[in-house]
Amino acid sequence: MKDFQEKLEVTKLTLRWAISEFERVALACSFGKDSVTVLSLAREIDPQIKVFMIRTGYGFEETEKFKNRLKEEWDLNLEEIHPSVSKDELEAEHGEDLYSRDPKLCCEVLKVEPTITYLENLDVWITGLRSDETEFRINLRRVEEYEGMPTKVNPIVDWTNDEVWRFIKDNGIPYNPLYDEGYASLGCKPCTLAGTWGRYERAGRWHGKEKKECGMHTIEPTDDR
Ligand code: SF4
Repeated sequence: MKDFQEKLEVTKLTLRWAISEFERVALACSFGKDSVTVLSLAREIDPQIKVFMIRTGYGFEETEKFKNRLKEEWDLNLEEIHPSVSKDELEAEHGEDLYSRDPKLCCEVLKVEPTITYLENLDVWITGLRSDETEFRINLRRVEEYEGMPTKVNPIVDWTNDEVWRFIKDNGIPYNPLYDEGYASLGCKPCTLAGTWGRYERAGRWHGKEKKECGMHTIEPTDDR
């Protein structure tokens, strides 16, 4: 098993490769601890790396404030992506609690569709996904190829939750204040609970439902490196 210094070295090499080898690169940031960790490292290579955030309309106020703070402090080259059908339009058509009755449809419209549209103009997208976040990410690989989509690069794929937190604390990286309120994993407000709900840190997401992924990361890769 790799020690943390080795993992960090491989993470930096992966980022350097992705950022220097490809022309159209962007980093997906939810402003949770994992994507901000990757962003902190990516900025060492390219301080103006393109960053994108999907705006579902259901985000936490705290995440919004944290995003604004980091955007200013880190001078982020941030694009905020809105879905073609807004949360309000979706609610008007399907009712206010669609996220509870049919979270698959809600995520499809507000998260997956705008992400796929945004990815059409990229060669590579960089994420903060880790393989031990949930049972659905166990087989996640560092670099994944997809049919008709850009290469997905997951530089901290093998970091543990503890390693992420140690890195954040040791390096004074700002983090979303919701973690201090007991949230283990952050997403949209109506679908995210604070506290420990199971073995995996994402257990508080879509709690009580089978769904544990928005759908963007359940698309099967065609190849890996
Ligand atoms: S996480 Fe919840 S509120 Fe956000 S898009 Fe998915 S179902 Fe809708």
